[in-house]
Amino acid sequence: MDLMNYIGGKFEGHSGGKWLDVKEPATGNVFARVPLSNSTDVDSAVRAAREAQPEWGGLGSNERARWLDSIADGLESRYEEIASLESRDTGKPISLARAVDAYRSVANFRFFAGEIRSHEEEVFEMSDATNFVSYRPVGVGALITPWNLPLYLLSWKVAPAIGMGNTVVCKPSELTPMTANLLMEVIDEVGLPEGVVNLVHGDGLGAGSSLVSHGDVDLVSFTGGTSTGSEVAKAAAPQFKKISLELGGKNSSIVLDDCEIDSTVKGVVRSGFLNQGQVCLCGSRVLVQDGIYDEFVERFIEEVESMKIGDPSDEETDLGALISAEHLTKVEGYIELAKEEGGTIVTGGYPCLPEPLANGNWIAPTVITGLSVDSRCSTEEIFGPVVSVHRFSEDSEAIGIANNTRYGLAGSVWTGDIERGRRIADSIHTGMVWVNTWLHRDLRAPFGGVKDSGVGREGGKWSLGFFSEATNVCVKHD
Ligand code: NAD
Repeated sequence: MDLMNYIGGKFEGHSGGKWLDVKEPATGNVFARVPLSNSTDVDSAVRAAREAQPEWGGLGSNERARWLDSIADGLESRYEEIASLESRDTGKPISLARAVDAYRSVANFRFFAGEIRSHEEEVFEMSDATNFVSYRPVGVGALITPWNLPLYLLSWKVAPAIGMGNTVVCKPSELTPMTANLLMEVIDEVGLPEGVVNLVHGDGLGAGSSLVSHGDVDLVSFTGGTSTGSEVAKAAAPQFKKISLELGGKNSSIVLDDCEIDSTVKGVVRSGFLNQGQVCLCGSRVLVQDGIYDEFVERFIEEVESMKIGDPSDEETDLGALISAEHLTKVEGYIELAKEEGGTIVTGGYPCLPEPLANGNWIAPTVITGLSVDSRCSTEEIFGPVVSVHRFSEDSEAIGIANNTRYGLAGSVWTGDIERGRRIADSIHTGMVWVNTWLHRDLRAPFGGVKDSGVGREGGKWSLGFFSEATNVCVKHD
């Protein structure tokens, strides 16, 4: 299957004739080709978005909310297809693709339809004047997304962006383009006005950087790695584009000795290994208090070893394949480094899988102990099924370890004492901390990181704020 760009309401071919093979992570087989678009394609997409913006931005918010609901209906009618495409394209288990990716893609459009309907102008009275604050569209938005949660993250940007009256050009990851294509099919089927949502496929250096530096793009919403985020910021800053960066993380799960051990073991394993550890929020460092250390580590390893790794299309599978051979090599490099840094691999290795899976990007969930808390493996983002476990005595020590990284995205605390959990959570320098749970999302709550994990917040009113320009009109009374 050869994919096409979607520009000005039409699926069309790209310039330059370059393609990239799309490989199934579980088998290594090529099953599609994605266009490697260039600046000419980006330019036509931005032009289409620009032309569509005034009329789209001029619609009332109820009307735009109705379009979001129609897109949600269209996605919902293809729910199972989203799950199976996402599972095939990313290597994640079908059960996860259904419960997380398909579910959230529909939910994102429905949620923002509701948010936009209830979003109101604000009024601030003075003794002699009234301020009317309205939220105008920013203009044309560039939406750039990674491969780990493809449609989940793309829909999380498209819905609030167009809901607030912007028009957009999407650039999904070249590794996982299939569900972005499906979203364009849905948008085409529901008859969204042409040019409101455009899609340019391609890689970062071709399509991605041309889009970010395009002179007629007003806003950039980027989710991806920290080093790419830095390049995106460098390109966007001189033109004063509005910019949001959701970047990498190295998150800690802090296990206190008063925790309820059964649910904590399950929660910390889920947090470490969901989506093969390829979620920016994954708790890849587990900090365990002295009093419970031995029992917890034993139970944790038992639980990790009980996970079923294999065919992503099998309903029983817990862990699938890593996204690419290159990414597998990077993860393997960190495991080798961990040995050099004095770590002990207490569980890991390679699963033995039958054809046609033998050529996929497989690695077993890996747990490392004995690493120093300053080591590279315990402070850098690995973004794979690799977790290091560390021992601590005092709460302050756990807080120090959790904060000892350039990242500041998320974390979790596991305890029987909610007040103590809250106190520790308040001292962790990240954008989000969960107590006795992980990745428990209320879409109204802010999402985003501090330090090298990003700039800005998404979610609820924070997304609506980012995708609009708050404008004040102050009227002096007679
Ligand atoms: P990546 O940075 O390599 O790529 C992300 C996107 O940026 C892709 O679409 C890519 O083609 C594009 N891109 C690459 N170079 C570009 C450039 N110079 N200009 C413009 N676009 C460019 O990231 P990835 O490997 O796809 O995803 C994994 C990373 O994403 C991890 O670091 C993970 O933590 C992070 N992530 C963060 C969040 C979050 O919400 N904070 C969510 C998911 C993933």
